Amino acid sequence: MNKKKTWPIAWLLAAWLLLPKPCLQAEHSVSERTIAMGNVIGCSVSTLARGLIQGKVHGLKDAARLLAYGAASGYGFYHAKKQAAAGHALAGLLLTNLSASVVDNISSGEGPLSYLGFPLPLFCLRVATPLARRPGALLNFAFSPRDLINLLQALGKSDRVMLRDGLLAFEANHPLQWNVRGWTYGIYPTVVKGKPGSVFRHETVHVLQGLQLIALSPEPFLKGHRRREGSMKIASFCGFRLHSLALANDLVLTLLLPHEKNWKEVEARSLVVPE
Ligand SMILES: [Zn+2]
Repeated sequence: MNKKKTWPIAWLLAAWLLLPKPCLQAEHSVSERTIAMGNVIGCSVSTLARGLIQGKVHGLKDAARLLAYGAASGYGFYHAKKQAAAGHALAGLLLTNLSASVVDNISSGEGPLSYLGFPLPLFCLRVATPLARRPGALLNFAFSPRDLINLLQALGKSDRVMLRDGLLAFEANHPLQWNVRGWTYGIYPTVVKGKPGSVFRHETVHVLQGLQLIALSPEPFLKGHRRREGSMKIASFCGFRLHSLALANDLVLTLLLPHEKNWKEVEARSLVVPE
């Protein structure tokens, strides 16, 4: 497929993805089956959209491959969020990273397990595995300006920072508003001091949703990881990650829907039993 033909399809897919999903608007909680289906179909289509936008789809075979791996990753994201909702945040985080790595790899023209991604504060690290074809570097770093803003927001609205179940987590002495028990900026969760464990589990689901949207975001300012000549370097800076879909999702949903009808909120409320 040439680029002229792929762009309109890519934008149509992106527009569809940004539309509020009717099944999630009707109620404030949905069945796990609906959540699983939403993750599988949403990730499958979004992975194809990212591949199209990044010019990695050259025919139906490529499109089918992206749809299939995207669907498998979507199921992985769903299962990861279920793990986090049940109190296994680290297991959920690891499964999310694996699912996100597959989406990242496959939509960038690499094999599904060529690189494993690890989100660090401010930077995303992608480590080349033995399956990577001609990797330019073992450790590949990309900087995200949105992540810096989210980190500053989390720091500004909290009183303590801690490492909790593999996440950089925050604790606040006072709620942002009356009856608010926790909040998450990007991938940084904050819980109001003294609140039950279900609040952290709820915010952890939001963190995993954030990582999912980051993986599905087309990234035009990232360099490819393959080397043309010479030997593999230890570390390389690969450019900037915009988190375009994550950013658009937050802006559009915040503007269009009340908080409790946003798909992220509906999903977290449906998976986590409140205490
Ligand atoms: Zn929430």
